[in-house]
Amino acid sequence: MIQITMPLNFLGTVYREIRQALVDMGEMFGLLDHPADVTDAPGARPLRVKGGAVALDDVRFGYDPRRPILKGVTIRVDPGRTVAIVGPSGSGKSTIARLLFRFYDVQGGAVRIDGQDVREVTQTSLHAAIGVVPQDTVLFNDTIRYNIAYGRPGASDAEVERAARAARLHDFIATLPEGYDTPVGERGLKLSGGEKQRVGIARTLLKDPPILILDEATSALDTGTEQQIQAELREASKGRTVLTIAHRLSTIVDADRIVVLEAGVVVEEGTHDALLARGGRYAAMWHRQAAEEEEGV
Ligand code: ADP
Ligand code: MG
Repeated sequence: MIQITMPLNFLGTVYREIRQALVDMGEMFGLLDHPADVTDAPGARPLRVKGGAVALDDVRFGYDPRRPILKGVTIRVDPGRTVAIVGPSGSGKSTIARLLFRFYDVQGGAVRIDGQDVREVTQTSLHAAIGVVPQDTVLFNDTIRYNIAYGRPGASDAEVERAARAARLHDFIATLPEGYDTPVGERGLKLSGGEKQRVGIARTLLKDPPILILDEATSALDTGTEQQIQAELREASKGRTVLTIAHRLSTIVDADRIVVLEAGVVVEEGTHDALLARGGRYAAMWHRQAAEEEEGV
C-alpha cells in the first residue's frame, strides 16, 4: 500500500506545483479571469529561431469576438531591431504582447516568428524564445533568489546576482537580513510596485531570450531608477529583437520605429524625428507629456 500511495502523493505534489506555476504565468498577464484554451497543434514542431523576426500580419482579435480589440494590425520587427508601441490606455498594446506569447489565438491574420506561425509550433519552444517583462510582475511565495532564478531554473548564484545588479535590485537585497534567501510575496516580505518590477526585469535578463517584450517595464519606477534601468535594458537589447510598449515616450526616442496604436488600429508609424515632424498623434502625445513633466506631474 505504502509503495503505491507514496508515488501518488509525490505526483500530486508535482501536479499541484505545475498547476501553480501555470496559474502564476497566467497571473503575470492578468488572465486569471480568462483561462485561455490554447493547445499545441497535432504534430507541432519546436520553433526554430534564426534572427528572431517578429511579425503581426493583419491581426484581428477580441477577448469577446463580438467586441474587436485589434482590428487588422500589422507590425513587423526585423531581427535585432527595436520597435516601440505607444498609444492610449486600452488601445490594445498589452493584448499584442499576449498574442505574441500565444496566450490567445488570433481570430484573423497571423502572428509569426521567423516566418513560423505561432499556432504551428510547440508552446514550450515559443515561451523559451520570448522573454516578457509584464506590467505587473507576480511573485511566488518563495525566496527572492527563487523569484529571480525562475527566469532560468538552474542558474548559479553568481548569475542571479548579476541579473539583480543589472536590475538595480542587488543593493536593496543586500540590506535584507536574509539577503537573497528572504521570503517574498504574500507570505513574506511585501515588495513595492517598483521592486516587483525590478524582479521581473532581473528574471527576464537572466532568461536571456532572443526576443524581448517590455510591457511598460519601468512604469512603476522613479525617473532616476528608470533611467538607470533603461540604460541596462538598452544594453541587453543589443542583438535581440525587442518590442517595447511605452508609457513614458522619453524612454523610446531611440527605437528603430515607433508604432502608434489607437483603438486597435495602427494610426501612425515612423522614427521619433519623423513622427514629430509630421505633427500628428505622436507629436501631440509628446508635447502633452513634455508639458506635464514641466508642471511636475
Ligand atoms: P493597453 O495595454 O493598450 O492599455 P489592453 O491590451 O490591456 O490595452 O486592453 C485592450 C482592451 O481589451 C481594453 O478595452 C481592455 O478592457 C480589454 N481587455 C484586456 N484584457 C482583457 C481580458 N482578459 N478580458 C476581456 N477584455 C480585456
Ligand atoms: Mg497595457
